[in-house]
Amino acid sequence: MMRLHSSRVPAWCRAVAACLTVGLAGSCGVSQQQEVELGASTAAQVRAELPLLKDAAVVKYINTLGNQLARATDTRNLAWTFTVVDSKEVNAFALPGGWVYVNRGLIERATNMSELAGVLGHEIGHVTLRHSVQQMQQAQGANVGVSLLCTLTKLCEGGAGQAAIGIGGSALFAKFSRTDEAEADAEGVATTVKAGISPRGIPEMFQVLLRERKTNPGAVDAFFASHPLEEDRITATEALIAQYSASQLQRLTRDTPAFQAFRRRLLALPPSPAPKKP
Ligand SMILES: [Zn+2]
Repeated sequence: MMRLHSSRVPAWCRAVAACLTVGLAGSCGVSQQQEVELGASTAAQVRAELPLLKDAAVVKYINTLGNQLARATDTRNLAWTFTVVDSKEVNAFALPGGWVYVNRGLIERATNMSELAGVLGHEIGHVTLRHSVQQMQQAQGANVGVSLLCTLTKLCEGGAGQAAIGIGGSALFAKFSRTDEAEADAEGVATTVKAGISPRGIPEMFQVLLRERKTNPGAVDAFFASHPLEEDRITATEALIAQYSASQLQRLTRDTPAFQAFRRRLLALPPSPAPKKP
C-alpha cells in the first residue's frame, strides 16, 4: 500500500497524528469540526473516484428519506448528505460527519421503502456513534490520519479507481468490530421507529442479501466483506423489534409510492459504468 504524499494530508490530520504520537490519545479527542473536515476531504475523494448519480429526482428522494431518518436521531445537527453510487454491486458506507452512500445495486434489490431505510439507519448509526472517529482515537502512530483516509477509501493504493468502485469504502466496515455492527443495527432499528418507518425492513434486507449470496455471490461480495452478516444479526434485530408493541409497529410506514417511483427510476437509468481498470 502506498502512502498518500504528506503534502496531501490536511492540517487537522497532522494535528491528530501529532496528538496521538505524543501519547495523549486518552485526553485528545477529535472535535466535531475535525470529524466534519475528515468527512469533507474524504467525500471529495469519493466524488473524484466513484460514479455518483446526479439525476435530480434520485438525489432528491435519497436525501429526503435520509434526512427524515437522520433528523430523528442526530443530536449534533450535522449537515447530512446522502448519495447513490452508480454501481450494480451491493454496498453502503458512511463517512464521519454525515456523508452516507448507498449503491444503486442495493436499492434495486430492496423490495420496499423500509428495507432501504434500515440500511440508511444503520449507516447513520455508524456516524452518530462516531465509530470511525473512535478507531482513529484508538489508533497509534504518526500516520494515523493518513491511514484512516487510506482505510476509508483505498485511495492510497495504486490504480485507486477500481478498488474504490469495487469496494467503495467497505474497508471502513471491515475495520468495524462486531460490537460496532451490532450497535449500528440497534441504532437502525431505533432510528427507523423514531422516523415513523417500520424497522422490519432491517432483518428483511438481511434475508434478501443472504438469498442473493446463494444465487449471485459476486454481486454482494463487497457488502459481505465489509458487513459480516450472519443469522445472528437477523435474530438480534428481530429481538429488538419484538420489544415494540404490535400496535405501535402497525402504525409505522412500510412502503410508499415515492419509494417505488424512485426504485423504478433507478431501474430505468442506463446500466452502471464498469468499474475503472487499475
Ligand atoms: Zn455497518
